Amino acid sequence: MADTTLADDPMGRNRAPIGTVDVAVIGGGVVGCATARAFALLGARVVLLEKSTDILAGASKGNSALLHTGFDAPPGSLELRLMQLGYRAYLAIRGPLNLPLLETGAMVVAWTDADLQRLETIAQQAIGNGVQNVEWLSPAQALAREPELCSQLRGALLVPGEHVIDAWSAPLAYLTQAIAHGAQVLRQCEVQRGTFDGQMWWLDTARGSVQARYVVNCAGLYGDLIEQRCLGKATFEIRPRKGQFVVFDKPAARLVRTTILPVPNERTKGVVIARTIYGNVLVGPTAEDQLDRTRATVDETALRDLVMQAGRMIPALAQIPVNAIYAGLRPASEQKDYRVHCDRQRHWVTLGGIRSTGLTAALGLATHAVELLLASSWQLPTPPATIWTPVPNLAEHLPRDWQRAGYGEIVCYCELVTRREIEAAFQSPLPPGDFSGLRRRTRAAMGRCQSFYCGARLAELTQGRLASALATPIRSE
Ligand SMILES: Cc1cc2nc3c(=O)[nH]c(=O)nc-3n(C[C@H](O)[C@H](O)[C@H](O)COP(=O)(O)OP(=O)(O)OC[C@H]3O[C@@H](n4cnc5c(N)ncnc54)[C@H](O)[C@@H]3O)c2cc1C
Repeated sequence: MADTTLADDPMGRNRAPIGTVDVAVIGGGVVGCATARAFALLGARVVLLEKSTDILAGASKGNSALLHTGFDAPPGSLELRLMQLGYRAYLAIRGPLNLPLLETGAMVVAWTDADLQRLETIAQQAIGNGVQNVEWLSPAQALAREPELCSQLRGALLVPGEHVIDAWSAPLAYLTQAIAHGAQVLRQCEVQRGTFDGQMWWLDTARGSVQARYVVNCAGLYGDLIEQRCLGKATFEIRPRKGQFVVFDKPAARLVRTTILPVPNERTKGVVIARTIYGNVLVGPTAEDQLDRTRATVDETALRDLVMQAGRMIPALAQIPVNAIYAGLRPASEQKDYRVHCDRQRHWVTLGGIRSTGLTAALGLATHAVELLLASSWQLPTPPATIWTPVPNLAEHLPRDWQRAGYGEIVCYCELVTRREIEAAFQSPLPPGDFSGLRRRTRAAMGRCQSFYCGARLAELTQGRLASALATPIRSE
């Protein structure tokens, strides 16, 4: 089969020739990044196609960053199985990829008698789901562990395995490792249409035509639309569910050691109080259904309510200023479970409807996609030796770059981001394609001044470089 050449990019700067690939992954959210990694590690030729100027432009940019055990997931669901597979995989690879883990554990707190009853069921569900080490805490035991909790609580269930991770470094690490194994990444590359000729997929994208033997649809909030565009009809329907968050300033972190969860209901896990990997405390998310797939706006009423709820659970939080607010959209669908759809005849897998646990499940979903496609008689050569590509640490509880000599200059004083870190982001195999991407790679402009002080310097340092990062085709040599 002849090689495919991508057309000039929308700015007319770049020709990015790619050969025919084994797998085209549509979407650079956490699921797409993990999927690209899984196939690349096996020796497949992979291209990841992302419509935005950087990866993590959809649901994966704004979540709670919790690594879930699956204790409250629907028993027997695909979500439970893949979340637990993803959880174990994250722990197994986080060392060599330099990915952090803030071992907080979580407490599901009952505030009423009704909560307490429901918590009994959740404890049994946890054990049934294989999370055996849950522990009942009396109010006194819960308060001994979390002295700032409101003393009105009726009891709590401790889930020691629920932890906090870095929601941005993890997918970046997965994709960086995929690139080291030969994967290519094309940003500003929206998939507009696709046809299957019985052997190959021909994908029309904003940057030209891509030919692939197999396609994995990881388009998140657009997963159903991609099926319509390529398969003719969708097997599910995305129903975006917004979650708003409030981020408290860093002194809040000494008020909370354990993630505080409410007793979940059928529809949502409820409002969580959790430390972030960057040293703050977040409260959220809300659960608001909407039709719009793009607008993740915040509103004052919801944010005030979150602050009030936080203050009811941990009264001292009311004294801490709020640093930041944000919202994310969950790619929920008309059903609760993930919407995985495999069409073996057409060499297609959709990893869709990955609603609220995809950060945890991403590595599990990726393995599942590999199993589904390899079962369709696809033979791969012997996998090459694994190349490990550790990413820079951004976690507050681990050594940061500013603590090592020779960093040059502190660019962002709120988050203590050095010039060396900014330069490293631009030198990396996947440089930021936009300013948000730079923030996610370095923490610059994410602190209490929200770029008031560092904005001008960052503009100077990044001038012309974000666009040229996009113009350079990402491929390993
Ligand atoms: C409020 C909230 C809280 C959450 N909390 C947690 C948590 O604590 N723990 C946890 O494990 N999970 C959590 N999640 C869930 C997790 O964030 C999602 O499950 C996950 O991000 C879904 O990732 P994805 O890759 O499927 O989709 P996305 O991140 O949306 O990625 C899809 C990508 O596809 C691209 N795309 C779309 N259409 C096209 C096209 N035509 N061509 C090319 N590219 C395209 C998009 O630009 C996007 O980058 C939370 C989610 C939200 C919103």
